[in-house]
Amino acid sequence: QNKAKLFEKTKESVLFKDVAGLDSAKEEIQEVVDYLKSPDRYASMGAKIPRGILLVGPPGTGKTLIARAIAGEADVPFYHISGSDFMEMFVGVGASRVRNLFADAKKNSPSIIFIDELDSVGRHRGAGLGGGHDEREQTLNQMLSELDGFEKNDSTIVLAATNRPDILDPALLRPGRFDRRITIGLPSMKDRIKILEIHANHKPLADDINMEKIAQGTPGFSGAELENLLNESAILATRRRVEKITMELIEEARDKVMMGLERKNLTVT
Ligand code: ATP
Repeated sequence: QNKAKLFEKTKESVLFKDVAGLDSAKEEIQEVVDYLKSPDRYASMGAKIPRGILLVGPPGTGKTLIARAIAGEADVPFYHISGSDFMEMFVGVGASRVRNLFADAKKNSPSIIFIDELDSVGRHRGAGLGGGHDEREQTLNQMLSELDGFEKNDSTIVLAATNRPDILDPALLRPGRFDRRITIGLPSMKDRIKILEIHANHKPLADDINMEKIAQGTPGFSGAELENLLNESAILATRRRVEKITMELIEEARDKVMMGLERKNLTVT
């Protein structure tokens, strides 16, 4: 029986302090944390909180990380499912999995559902090559009906991530569904320094390491790529049997990471 990869339910230890930069996103999302901590206060005030929030931005910029941090800050269960997982399922199970996911999350509310790669299941219906994809449409329809089916006292918030909001089915964006959008962009120079500092923690750095200089030399890098850069440098240092990561090793690793990125772009386009 294909029970694997239904969804993952975790208790998160990631906090906002683990997310570098993204200050305006954190500010916007603070309201959600407050709500999840004490939904009853909002309910007794008659206040309605947005149910579905879309995190939009390029890969590796911290969308998953910030979603985890909301769960960590509010100390509520985190349900993670990837839109592409639905595509690997047997015909007919996608919709029931969506139903189970929402039922479990509601039962354990306050809680967060995080749908990664929403576009793979949420693409405009009928827009796929070779006509409709029944399985995907059924899954998407179930998701839409779950989003509409929340009761007033269900304190579950649904977050979804995408880097292609333009191809989403408009039905997903209607009021009451994913009607709030938060943009998660590539990090600025200042934020790249902060990200490097977080991921350099616990790594032995030589005295010549200059985070500002590294940040200057990595325009367009995402948080994930910066993390990868430091990791590649640590691998190089280990292989060379040197005790600390030097600026020279960082530069070597940067060339390697950039070459990998170029190759990736070549295969994509
Ligand atoms: P994708 O669209 O590919 O799923 P994503 O936006 O969800 O990407 P994450 O999975 O959150 O990206 O980021 C990958 C990793 O990169 C994180 O686990 C973290 O280690 C690092 N990272 C990305 N952004 C940040 C950030 N702002 N601060 C600290 N670490 C970051």
